[in-house]
Amino acid sequence: MTPRVHVIAMTTKKGVPKTKSKVIRTLFSKAESDLKQVTKGKLIPDELGVFGESREFLVFELAKSMENAIESLEKANSANKVLLEIFTDVREETSVSDILQSMTLGLYGLILGNYNEEDFRYLYRYSLKHVRNQNKIENWLRKALVMLAAVKHDDVKEIMSEIRVWLQFIGAPFFTPESFVKHGEELGVDVKSVIESEELKLVDVLTRHPQYLREAVEGRPFLELYDACKDWTPDALLSEILSIIRENAYKSAQEVIRPDMNVAQSFEAVKGHFEKTQFQSHKKAVMPIRLQELPSPPPGDAIDPVIFELIPQKLRMGLLPSVAYSRKTKSIEIIFLGGPNIGRSGILIKTDTGGILLDFGISVANHRIPEWVPELEMIDTVLVSHGHLDHLGGLPILFDKFDGKWCSVGPTGGIAKILLSDAQKVGTPAPPRKFDKLDLVSRFKEDNVNKVIANHVRLEYGKSNEVSPGIVVTPIDACHIPGSAAYSIDIEGTKILYTGDFNIDESVLFPGASLPTDADYVIFDGTYWGRDDFDRKKVSENMSNIIANHGPIVIPSFAVGRSQEILTILENLGITKNRKVMVAGMANRVTNLVGVEGNWEGMKKNKVHLDKDDILVAGGGMLGGGLARHHFNEQRNNPDAAIILCGYLAPRTPGWNLLHGYEPHDCKLDYARLSAHSSASNLQRYIDSCSGKRIMVHTPIEKAPKGITMPEYRERIIIKT
Ligand SMILES: [Zn+2]
Ligand SMILES: [Zn+2]
Repeated sequence: MTPRVHVIAMTTKKGVPKTKSKVIRTLFSKAESDLKQVTKGKLIPDELGVFGESREFLVFELAKSMENAIESLEKANSANKVLLEIFTDVREETSVSDILQSMTLGLYGLILGNYNEEDFRYLYRYSLKHVRNQNKIENWLRKALVMLAAVKHDDVKEIMSEIRVWLQFIGAPFFTPESFVKHGEELGVDVKSVIESEELKLVDVLTRHPQYLREAVEGRPFLELYDACKDWTPDALLSEILSIIRENAYKSAQEVIRPDMNVAQSFEAVKGHFEKTQFQSHKKAVMPIRLQELPSPPPGDAIDPVIFELIPQKLRMGLLPSVAYSRKTKSIEIIFLGGPNIGRSGILIKTDTGGILLDFGISVANHRIPEWVPELEMIDTVLVSHGHLDHLGGLPILFDKFDGKWCSVGPTGGIAKILLSDAQKVGTPAPPRKFDKLDLVSRFKEDNVNKVIANHVRLEYGKSNEVSPGIVVTPIDACHIPGSAAYSIDIEGTKILYTGDFNIDESVLFPGASLPTDADYVIFDGTYWGRDDFDRKKVSENMSNIIANHGPIVIPSFAVGRSQEILTILENLGITKNRKVMVAGMANRVTNLVGVEGNWEGMKKNKVHLDKDDILVAGGGMLGGGLARHHFNEQRNNPDAAIILCGYLAPRTPGWNLLHGYEPHDCKLDYARLSAHSSASNLQRYIDSCSGKRIMVHTPIEKAPKGITMPEYRERIIIKT
């Protein structure tokens, strides 16, 4: 897992931003003249800025963007001190006003290029963690987002869609477009002018009076509602709208079916009915036609016994009705719910009668799941590529409504149980955010985790299975982590390869993946696309040297994959023979589960002190908490000890802070660059050898390379078969 984020192209140009808003322009040019006064030794008038902050703040960040530090700005300097303490998470107590002041400073810093969008997200998420009553924060946030969007766009429609991107990116709760009007007025941005549109008026009515949802939507075509609402209505409400219309759609479709019609004729009749009543999510196709949802479905066709054998035992019961109604699909749609970036993988493959989902992750950075589309509620089966939260962390939320099965290979089912239960306990998905029925993420509940675990089907590498009508899949070892799979998917002759996270390089755990090159569509993991290659041999040599000269050693590491890799490196280097190597907590449980073995021991009872000889591998790769954190704190002032960070460190996490010099320490610090993804050169070579259309996902790259497609969120590829 390398949870990089969707990066918003922010203005990083230094100086006063160009904007149509006179209020914002005045604010910045005033700061410019203030700065001139200050450099002449004069004082700034004691007036307040647009967020109720001291006028010094903007001057301070403006000076900083020109690489000046001005000591005389006392108020700004003291707010900046607080901001830095918040960034390193060392404040014992922080008031709402402290946080708001820091966020304001951070906002100006972001606009002026002193901070990036991840820093801004960190500040907002810090406030989520530390401020129970969010009213003041949310009020500030809406205004801040209007400002952020207005320094980039002039058109109010564009300002509003920029705001929506930001809301998604930071993982904010739902706000109506209407709620930005007041802030727009204060900043000279005419939000009201777009609120008057028919679409947004409808959104406003639906979100304000969800109790009258049925009355408001009944009799209206779904296409019209979805088009109007899809950008600004909470997913949970869209899902409710769908259930109301879906029930009516099938009820009325029943009337067009005569008793003498067979499956094929019934299918065509329902299709015609859906077209006429616009039971569609876009103009080019109708919703999947699931005859089994009719109040009294026609008798199904007999199932071909050969096909029946292809269906895993556990799937058969659930699939029987739909398999009986299966028919050759005339079109396939690939819908990219998780967009192009790393964090919340999710791809839907829709056929005429249903479909499957490839992965359903959750972003650890903002606790978001893939985007919702109506077809998400009409799939038959979920295929999960491997046991990392960015690929399966959203399953408990999906299973709140979904009653089908999910499939994976090897130990992934067991890993899912460990990961999801842990996420539930530590609150990864729904942190201190209150229960919100408009928010799908707050459906991550213990019951749902249990439902996920109960509905798992294990597949085997190399063995084909029909997992949904007409969809035959063959899992292939992706060599990313134990149990990771790429899926070769055959839909009546159209071949789609989904690589999931994969590694072609040879590593200590795997020989390197060998994937087919003949798929019509290859959807691949581009984590290291276009980046420098890494030298795995050098990493272990370096590690060997550090370990030989230090003790004890603390290695914070991700529980799934990375810990097993580190342990195997230590084993191969012979270190496990002459030092006491221990693995603790979740890392230990996962290592036992996946069956990677060596001369180390599981730390059964948590050791309070490490001895000179000890080497501890413990979960919490970003040093966020747990045993790794405890032992780092214990050893940080011991020059004989060493801490070895390995793998991805999200900005502003304790591990990142340590690596970037924000955490004082006397112990030896090292970073082992390891990766469970293909190196850039091998990835390029493989992709060049693929004959079909190439689609890159799971990548930090922002612009699609030549000859490769990178999908937007909810983008569809429609294939006529
Ligand atoms: Zn991943
Ligand atoms: Zn992964």
